[in-house]
Amino acid sequence: MRNVIIIGSGPAGLTAAIYTARANLKPILILGAHAGGQLTLTTEVENYPGFHHAIMGPDLIAEMRQQAERFGTEFLAGDITSVDLKQNPLRVIVDGERTLETKTLIIATGASAIWLGVPGESALMGHGVSSCATCDGFFFRGQELVVVGGGDSALEEANFLTRFATKVSVVHRRDKLRASKIMQDRAFKNEKITFIWNSVVEDILGNDLVTGVRLRNIVTGQLSELKAAGVFVAIGHSPNTRLFEGQVAMDAHGYILTKHGMATNIPGVFAAGDVQDVRYRQAITAAGSGCMAAMDAERYLEGLG
Ligand code: NAP
Repeated sequence: MRNVIIIGSGPAGLTAAIYTARANLKPILILGAHAGGQLTLTTEVENYPGFHHAIMGPDLIAEMRQQAERFGTEFLAGDITSVDLKQNPLRVIVDGERTLETKTLIIATGASAIWLGVPGESALMGHGVSSCATCDGFFFRGQELVVVGGGDSALEEANFLTRFATKVSVVHRRDKLRASKIMQDRAFKNEKITFIWNSVVEDILGNDLVTGVRLRNIVTGQLSELKAAGVFVAIGHSPNTRLFEGQVAMDAHGYILTKHGMATNIPGVFAAGDVQDVRYRQAITAAGSGCMAAMDAERYLEGLG
């Protein structure tokens, strides 16, 4: 029987591991199918405090992992295939065959950006293709950029990017935005933002770095090319919560609901990071909530006596 099992190996899960390991709870952390999470998809991280010369996303994760290891975290390669949280001990099944029992569980499975799935996108990820303007906008000072999407995220990203870019083209597949009125007004007033309606990105162009996009107007069928140094895909995120459906309480979009710190509706089950955060979605906020979940789990275990 374990004291703590942590699912997920991004900043939330690794911070929870550092804290629970230092509290002598001997945590086991299950790495998941995409070990390291979204930070492993980025290049330089300049907004994580403590690294004034910036640090590469994968290096930041490697540092956190070594730190968690140093205090005795046990890492388990593999993916959770099901969980049974209706009884205590809580049960998690790894790779369909191994059952682990635990008194507390910290869910830090993150969220995944939804991608377009067009040619060039995955090859140029971190080389001009991004899903996070806050993270990567700074690298595009004086350049022209494309944002894909018509929701609040797309307009927020577009507005933010005008701090750096000379021009931001928002490519949207319809002629009406999904975004809230206030975000629309702000974007329409921003002279650096232009809208390309009824259009989809067919191709992201460039060899080592993004040089532009090929667009298709879905009404006329016309193809065109647009020069751009960066493409920010903002067509939504999806929390990695399918495993917990029907057991852990979630909002309408599948994000886990937390209260009183990082507690979920199930005693002994806590959630941290992007899996429960639709709003901030930053490495530093994920790490902060991982710390909170660890402290909440520790307190819960103390209460069990
Ligand atoms: P969203 O509201 O689901 O919008 C996604 C946008 O991407 C839509 O315009 C959609 O087009 C487009 N899209 C989806 N799949 C596409 C594809 N394959 N190709 C091209 N376009 C595609 O997602 P979101 O903007 O990330 O927002 C998620 C939630 O967070 C929302 O509730 C939002 O209000 C909230 N949010 C709030 C703020 C804020 O208040 N500051 C900031 C960010 C997010 P269609 O419109 O045609 O479906």
